[in-house]
Amino acid sequence: MKIGILTIGNELMNGRTADTNSSFIAREINLQGWQVEIMMSVGDDFATIKSRLHYLLTFADAVICTGGLGPTADDITTAAIAQAFDLPLYTDQAVLQGIKDKFTKYNLRWVENNAKQALFPQGAEVIANPVGTAAGFVLPVADKLVFVIPGVPSETHRMLPEGVIPILHRHFPQPVEHAIKQTIKTFGLSEAAVDERLAEVNFNTLGVSVGFYPVFPENHLVLIARSDSREKAQKNLQKAQDEVTARLHDCIFSYGEQTLEEIIAAALTEKKLTIAVAESCTGGLIANRLTDVSGSSIYFERGLTTYSNAAKISMLGVPAEIIEKHGAVSEETARLMAEGVRKLAGTSLGLSSTGIAGPTGGTKEKPVGTVYVALADVNQTVCRHHAFRWDRKRNKQVSTETALMMLKNYLQEK
Ligand code: ATP
Ligand code: MG
Repeated sequence: MKIGILTIGNELMNGRTADTNSSFIAREINLQGWQVEIMMSVGDDFATIKSRLHYLLTFADAVICTGGLGPTADDITTAAIAQAFDLPLYTDQAVLQGIKDKFTKYNLRWVENNAKQALFPQGAEVIANPVGTAAGFVLPVADKLVFVIPGVPSETHRMLPEGVIPILHRHFPQPVEHAIKQTIKTFGLSEAAVDERLAEVNFNTLGVSVGFYPVFPENHLVLIARSDSREKAQKNLQKAQDEVTARLHDCIFSYGEQTLEEIIAAALTEKKLTIAVAESCTGGLIANRLTDVSGSSIYFERGLTTYSNAAKISMLGVPAEIIEKHGAVSEETARLMAEGVRKLAGTSLGLSSTGIAGPTGGTKEKPVGTVYVALADVNQTVCRHHAFRWDRKRNKQVSTETALMMLKNYLQEK
């Protein structure tokens, strides 16, 4: 089945809002095994909405529209769609009552404009909105369907799977197909390198599709297995996952939706270990990531942003001579920072970063992107040198990720 997507709103046309609804809808549609044939965005304009909707319907069996269902005069989607098919509007009494009840409940003054949100084209079926005021609708047009749901992303996210997709299944019955999804998160390889390593895997013969989603500095893969039986889909997905693991195992940190910091949190908690962080070039990002997880106070003791030499000396006890001799960006300093913060905090682990984020500050021996991360426990300290090549912001992000990967690997080997 072929789907068209039409996102509506002047804010999309002038660039004030990025059209995230289209990509969300496309992902969900693909998960069902259907195909998005065409996507388009238009402003809040009668003639444009009408003509583009007709155009999309020449390609698609169903068009999903979002936006322009609000109570104000510039929200004209419903009226435009009714006009497009020469249909009068009718008031759905149940929807109208629902809106009025909300006004009473929240003690809001009723303005007649709001009754507009209970108007639907003749022949349309209402799609309830569990999280907002504007109801959506589906309008059968010949053997095709036109869906309209609100533009607010949180509302689209609920109404698409709960309202739209079940109707599509009912209206366009398909041979039963089971689709199972597996996300695999990797770090350390570019998208091209991941692609190259997987070049020889024949996902097609397994009935598995692979999607690449770079989320800097990580690369996420999404495997989707489809089959007429759930067991077969499961088996093929497992085979595909094994092939991926065999080629990318050194870079994979998560099977599923868990973030790197969540995996670390679980490991630290399970092993009853605590950690303190001393950061230079990452400027607090490591501490930020570690504390993004609820319950982090169990394992996270403190994070120091020791940016200056003086801070490294006075707060972490790094000897001035070491910094003078080897530099603040050096293996020696990184090691002493990790050991220093661990001792200071009395934690099981100390993690540190020091480097040159750029764009200034690089030298021939230590160019921009030179980064050391170190991890100390009571017995030993390990330190790694990295040479990154991004801009300042990305160098900070990738350094943070590297430090967290080092910690994750340590915890998994322990
Ligand atoms: P409401 O009943 O809340 O007025 P609506 O259907 O009229 O809903 P809009 O007014 O078009 O929706 O948009 C509401 C919000 O959703 C705005 O903040 C807008 O920027 C955002 N939005 C609209 N369309 C999209 C889209 N395609 N992608 C992402 N955000 C969107
Ligand atoms: Mg709008």
